[in-house]
Amino acid sequence: MPFSFLNSVPEVLKSVVESGYVTPTPIQEAAIPKILEGQDILASAQTGSGKTAAFLLPALHKIKVTAKSGFGPKVLILVPTRELAMQVASQAVKYSKYMDRVTTVCLYGGAPYPTQNRQLSRPYEILVATPGRLIDHMERGRIDFSQVKTLVLDEADRMLDMGFVKPVEQIAAKLPEGVQTVMFSATFEPAILKLAKTLMKDPCHINLAGTTKKHENIEQALYYADNLPHKLKLINHLLPTIQSQQTIVFVATKFFAEELGEKLREDGFSVGVLHGDLHQRQRTRTIQQMREGKIAILVATDVAARGIDISTIGYVINFDLPANIEDYIHRIGRTGRAEAKGTALSFVLPKDSHLVDKIGALTNKEAVILTIPGLEPAVKERTLKPKGKSSFGKRRPPFKAGPFFKKERKQFGEGRRFGRG
Ligand code: AMP
Repeated sequence: MPFSFLNSVPEVLKSVVESGYVTPTPIQEAAIPKILEGQDILASAQTGSGKTAAFLLPALHKIKVTAKSGFGPKVLILVPTRELAMQVASQAVKYSKYMDRVTTVCLYGGAPYPTQNRQLSRPYEILVATPGRLIDHMERGRIDFSQVKTLVLDEADRMLDMGFVKPVEQIAAKLPEGVQTVMFSATFEPAILKLAKTLMKDPCHINLAGTTKKHENIEQALYYADNLPHKLKLINHLLPTIQSQQTIVFVATKFFAEELGEKLREDGFSVGVLHGDLHQRQRTRTIQQMREGKIAILVATDVAARGIDISTIGYVINFDLPANIEDYIHRIGRTGRAEAKGTALSFVLPKDSHLVDKIGALTNKEAVILTIPGLEPAVKERTLKPKGKSSFGKRRPPFKAGPFFKKERKQFGEGRRFGRG
């Protein structure tokens, strides 16, 4: 029995069975036994890998088996964004729904305080929060951390990028001695290791990111573009060919997200827009409409790169490449959810050509370059290659095309490949 540790918590096992999970995912297989042993963990796993259940299931086991009753959270989960907070909280509610007296509270900025204050005044066991809002409540003395047994930092790399190191350290300092700390990060960059050293005792390292396994179900390809008008022509050509599948189009700025959303709407697509300047209610509504299939295309900034788990998203288009290249992984992880097939297409401007190799290194895959007849880039690809890394003239094994690429090649001609030398 793969989830046999849940035999002692049949209430949780029931919801796992109901969710249709038959075998643990690799991160669950690696992390759950260590978490049950009480070890601190630093794990590198992508979104979409099943990492949320990897920390929630043993945390619920711990609540049932070891935690004494007492006011205040037993498990504290810190996340970088509102979307991820809601996503994690909804999974916590799902897995604990058959447990007696296990309540989840979710705190994030942009939501009214009175509702959150009310939730904090009643008994609860699981607290999911973004660091800023949690500190607000903490400083007003609304949270008693004395019962916390497990601290989870989800997407810690993102929290660092967003400047949350100090708040995270400030919160950790309020927790009781002997708290078990579980940290998930897409990368093990030096700043992450430094934070891990501050917060954890001799953590067990689990590294499943960067393995090809994670992205085997996601076809990836690039189109070189000369400039913005060229990108617009590419997207106008591509979207009708993939209309039957929901798509997220990632752009660099909030302003351009609105502009492109408006333009695509004028072109007759059903479009939603998601970025950080929108009110939380609008963001939640747009995600819900996407989930219900009422919107075909979501134009989004990186605020949507994490936390959105909609299994019907077939395509991610990076209209602009992310400023932080690690976000590429998070963006493409919005498709290919729960082992479904997905496709990620990226537009590369000449100024971004150095990122092609970085993407290859990050995903452990050779970049596949496609062109559309009549929309080829004016700049020769040879001059786009970074110096000293040319792979021209090298023989490469043929790219195994998925159904989309087979179809597209027939339509547009053979794609060209080059990538890491
Ligand atoms: P996450 O990486 O936590 O965002 O999870 C990605 C998706 O995988 C979610 O939709 C989960 O419901 C699903 N999932 C988690 N664990 C399993 C499992 N053992 N088998 C199948 N799907 C799972």
